[in-house]
Amino acid sequence: MDCGRGMFCPFCGKHMSSLTRFCFTCGRCLEFLKDADQTEPPDILHQCVQYFNEGHSYAVIVDMMSSLHGVNISLRTLKSKLNEAWL
Ligand SMILES: [Zn+2]
Repeated sequence: MDCGRGMFCPFCGKHMSSLTRFCFTCGRCLEFLKDADQTEPPDILHQCVQYFNEGHSYAVIVDMMSSLHGVNISLRTLKSKLNEAWL
C-alpha cells in the first residue's frame, strides 16, 4: 500500500490522496472522518478500523496500537471509536 499522505477508506480500504466527503471507490460517506480530525489525530481511528477490517479482535487491536504505534487505548475506547466509524 501507499505510505504517503492521505488516508484509507475505512469501508473498502482504498487509499486516497486527500480527505474527501465520499470515497471514490465505494461511494460511502466519509464525513465522519472529518469530524474525528478535529478532536484527535486521525491516524489512530483509521488504523484501528484498518486492523478491524483485517479481522483482528478488539484485544489484539489494543495490543497492536500499543506495541506498534505507541498509542495506549482502552478496549472500551476502541469499541466506541469503531462504533462511531460504522455509523
Ligand atoms: Zn471506499
